[in-house]
Formats: sequence, C-alpha cells, structure tokens
Amino acid sequence: MNSLHLKSFIRCKRKAWLDFKGEKSCEVWSPHKAIDKINQFKIFSQFCNGEIYTGLKGCENGYQGVIGLKVKENFFKNINAEIRPQLLVRTKGKSKWGPYKYLPAVYKLGHKTTKEHLFDLAFSSIKLGTFQESKIEKGLVISNLGNKINVEEIYLNKKLRKKVLNVLLSLNECLEGFMPEITQDRKKCTICSWQKFCDKEAKENGYLTDIDGIGSKTASILKTNGISNTQTLASYSEKKLGEKLSTFNNQKFEKASIFIKQAQAYISGEPYCISNKNVTNSLLEKTSSGFYIFDIESNPDDKHDFLYGFLKINNLYTKKEDLSYEPILNLKNNKMESYRQIIKILFSHKEWPVLHYGETEKIAIINIAKKLNLSFEEIDSLISRFIDLHILIRKSWILPIKNYGLKTVSSWLGFKWMQKNVSGSKALYWWIQYQITENEIFLKKIIQYNKDDCLATLQIAEYLLKDQLKKN
Ligand code: SF4
Repeated sequence: MNSLHLKSFIRCKRKAWLDFKGEKSCEVWSPHKAIDKINQFKIFSQFCNGEIYTGLKGCENGYQGVIGLKVKENFFKNINAEIRPQLLVRTKGKSKWGPYKYLPAVYKLGHKTTKEHLFDLAFSSIKLGTFQESKIEKGLVISNLGNKINVEEIYLNKKLRKKVLNVLLSLNECLEGFMPEITQDRKKCTICSWQKFCDKEAKENGYLTDIDGIGSKTASILKTNGISNTQTLASYSEKKLGEKLSTFNNQKFEKASIFIKQAQAYISGEPYCISNKNVTNSLLEKTSSGFYIFDIESNPDDKHDFLYGFLKINNLYTKKEDLSYEPILNLKNNKMESYRQIIKILFSHKEWPVLHYGETEKIAIINIAKKLNLSFEEIDSLISRFIDLHILIRKSWILPIKNYGLKTVSSWLGFKWMQKNVSGSKALYWWIQYQITENEIFLKKIIQYNKDDCLATLQIAEYLLKDQLKKN
C-alpha cells in the first residue's frame, strides 16, 4: 500500500480496495485526477521558483523542491508501505545529504484543509524522518487562492502520527479483506474513476441512493422503516411512506409520492408524465418563431467561462445539420470583446427565447450584462428570455434515470456525442491542455463538445414538445 491508497481510503474504503486489487479494465480515466495533477505541478513549481527535480537525486543535490520520491519500508506489524510525498521542500537543518533537510508538502484545492491533507503529511513524515536522518516537526499545505500562493504550516504532533498509524492498520485490514460496500454518500462517486463499475452493482442490488433525491440520510430513514431497496420502495404505499418522512415536514406526502414514482420508473424503464400541458403549450408558443440554445464551458476553480456556444434555431423542423452554431471563446486578454459579441447575438433577435440547461448560463449572462453597463430594463428583458429546461423537465416528467443532469437525460433520449467519454471536466482538461500547448486541436475538441451539448439540449426541448409537434 502507499500514500495514494491512504488518500483514497479516507474518501471511500471501497475505492482504496479497488485501487489496490480492482480489475484495471473497469476503471475509467478521470479528467479530475489529471487536472489536479497539472494544477498541483503548476503551483509547486511556482512555490519553488521553478527549481523542481524528480526523485532521490533531487534530494542528494539539494534542490528546493523534489517530486516523485518513493520510500518503501516495513512500517510496523509487518505492514509494508510506501510513502509518496507530493512535494518535498528544502529547509534549514541537517540531514544525511548535507546541511539541509526536507519537509513534506501537499497541494490543496479550495479553502478547507481536510483529514486527507493532514494524514498524507503525517504519513510521509513518519518514514521521511528516518530516511533523511532528520526529524520532521511540520508539513506544509500549499494552495492557490485568488492567484496568490498560500502556505499553511501543520505541526505533525504525536497525536496526529498515532491517528495515522491507526488508519494504516484499518487500511491494511481492508486491503486484505473482501471488497467493501459502496459508500453511503454517493456524492463522492461523481468524480471517482470507479463510478461505472459501482453504478452497475448499485443498480443490480436496488440501492436506494440510486433514486434521485435520496441521499444517505433519507436512505437510512427508509431502511429503519423496513424499506431496504428500490423494489420495496416502488411497491410501497404513498400515504404510509409520507407518514414516515416527517423530516420533510409539510412536503412529506409530496416527497413520498415522488420517491415511489421515481423508483417505479427506474425499475420499469418507463417515464411518468406528471403534468406537462401548460409547460409545453407555453414552450411551444414562445419558441414558435425561433430561439437560441445557449451553453457554457467553464473552469469553476478559476471562476472563468472559457467558451460560450449559441445554436440558432429558426424553427423546430430544420434539419440538425442545417442549424447554425456560433462558438465564442473567452480568452483572458479579450474578455470585453467576447462579452460584446454575446450581447450582439442576443440582441439580434430580441424576441427570441434562450433555452439552456441549468442555472449557470443565466447567471453568466446577467454578469456579462452588468459588466457592459446595460440598463436595468435591458437586463430585465434579457433575463425574461431565459428558459431553463432542467426545471421544465423536472416539473413535467419523472424519468427512469439516476439523475437529471444534461448528459443523463439526453443519453436516455438516445442522444450521442460525437466524441466518446466526454464531460464538462474533460472539456476543462482540453482547455488546460490548450493553454499549455496552444495546439488548436484542443480548441476544436472543446467546440465540438459544446456544440453537442447544445444539440443535446435541443433534443430535450423536442422531447418536452413531442406531443405538440406530433399534432402539427
Ligand atoms: S464509485 Fe463511489 S463507491 Fe465506488 S469506489 Fe468510487 S467513491 Fe467508492
């Protein structure tokens, strides 16, 4: 086992086990991991003024920063473990290499220092101390907040070291045993490379957390009331369930009805129509003389939207290949120019609604309009044109799917992306690659992906309107 297994174990026991013993062909490449690595290297490099070297040679030569060192040793109770410090930072002292020593450092995304960071540092320090023949009292947590490098010193006291040794014992036990259960907190699964593998098992075993809206808390309430899987939930009485869901206060019967219908749809594969007449009539009326579909690609850590895509639909009967799509790149040095282009497009058909999926697009446009000093009236009229299809689909349908994200809904409708295994994080990964290499191929991939997102949104609009379209 190594530092990476320890990190995984703190998040999800099963992930540590799968990383160690799982069938590698079931693991899917994760753009999150790759983005994290790139950011990590960038910040470490900045922190060490570019003086970074790899492996043992780096330590022997006394470089300011050393990455990629691996130290494998027998820990205790015959546990073999390998430390892989993310970064070693040279500091004053005396070690076997000369008049200096190294401190372990980890990279942190965001504000919160978690157990993952503390345990990683403590784990590295235990072996690194003996390896470099110099004691380690503290470790560093390095982050980039608002484009400024921030360093937090963590004192690696006895208590923390003891805690980490206990965690190592449990990790060792876990790795020697059977595969642990799927985590209760399925939110953790969204960025996990084993998600597909675990999702399959969860569906086969009727996991309650597969039902949209049911998190670990609700699942445990249901279990204490004898509802342990989706099958039991699907055949339960709405009234009886409502009585058990007092945590939802006056929404309890409404929630009970939705959970049961969602479970029924999930098992049968059949969608359930809540009531979509008003929704679709109004949507059809608003879109009849043309509309835009709007989708953004962003880097949430940087708070930067790097691509705005517009699909122009004169009428719903136009062939997909004849639709015009306009991508607008938001390069950091021409921000205002891209904002002006966006508003120009939106003002070229002032009466057209703007269909989008999720709240991000509307918020982005409000911010752009404010930056361009548009009047209150102009901003209000812009906002009134935005129609969020995510809200509409949830209002009118219960679909046989696990969540109502754009990818899940449109994939269920049969939409196929031109590029395989794509996601918003993959687009962000391409964007980062483009910034590093300036290779246009990455831009092409992002643009194709965004265009497909717009077309996927269009497919959802068509689904909402399908009965009306048939009539005409
Ligand atoms: S997908 Fe979820 S349950 Fe499976 S290993 Fe990852 S975090 Fe754990």
